Amino acid sequence: MLLRERVSDHAYIFRSNLYAQVNAGLITTNDGCVLVDTLPFPQETAEIQRFVRERLHSEVRYIILTHSHADHVYGAFLFPRAEVVGHLLSRELMIKHTRPALTEARKKNAVLANVFLRLPTLLTEDEAAIRIGGTTLNLRHSPGHSPDVLTVYFKDEKLLFASDTIMPIPFFANGNIDDLRRSLRAILEIPRLEDVVQGHGPVLLRGEVKDVLAEQLDYLNQVEAHVEQVLANHGGKAELNALSTEDCGIPPTVLDGLVLKLHLANMATLYAKRRKQLQKAAA
Ligand SMILES: [Zn+2]
Repeated sequence: MLLRERVSDHAYIFRSNLYAQVNAGLITTNDGCVLVDTLPFPQETAEIQRFVRERLHSEVRYIILTHSHADHVYGAFLFPRAEVVGHLLSRELMIKHTRPALTEARKKNAVLANVFLRLPTLLTEDEAAIRIGGTTLNLRHSPGHSPDVLTVYFKDEKLLFASDTIMPIPFFANGNIDDLRRSLRAILEIPRLEDVVQGHGPVLLRGEVKDVLAEQLDYLNQVEAHVEQVLANHGGKAELNALSTEDCGIPPTVLDGLVLKLHLANMATLYAKRRKQLQKAAA
């Protein structure tokens, strides 16, 4: 069974217990529902489908895919009548990366056998809005975790679906640390924001959001300073990996232990990028 949580009058989240605590959001209106992302495995997204049909007696009219990563987009095929919304770049990245990766994943994992990608057909770049049943949802480009991330703001209920711009550990190995910093700061600027649904893990409640965002920005600074120091000392992998998640205030058990892998990938990516830049500057 999935974890289902009502997060405001007209919004729920569903959290995967099979992979990385991915969150899918559901916004309800009297003219149908909007799903913000889907869950990694079809049997999980099927629970959302049943909830909408049997408990809400409603249907999903739009699915907003917040970015192209597999763990958020695999369930969209279960809602063939819903319009799929996403960033222009998401569509490109899904064609280039997510679809070939799914072909491989289907060979290894029988539960994915029937999964096919639904590409976004309503496309946005910087900002867009969806108006449904008297409710407005504001979509905003929020790159950093990956170049194509969108956040969804449900202003009436002061609730932000932050996608993977906010995770229990910032993760930019497929994106860009400077963009992520800017996107985190942009969230701090949203007036009267209360609760935040992260792409993975627990919902952030009013009162926690500012502190968590400050910690996330700190983490990015710490990782960056560490990488610079390792490069200055001509250190290698051992020196690079010496900065632990705990040194950055993140317990290693967070996200079912996945944080260490994400942290090491962050550092390796930034190290490789900075080393290349330094070599180029010296040449
Ligand atoms: Zn992601």
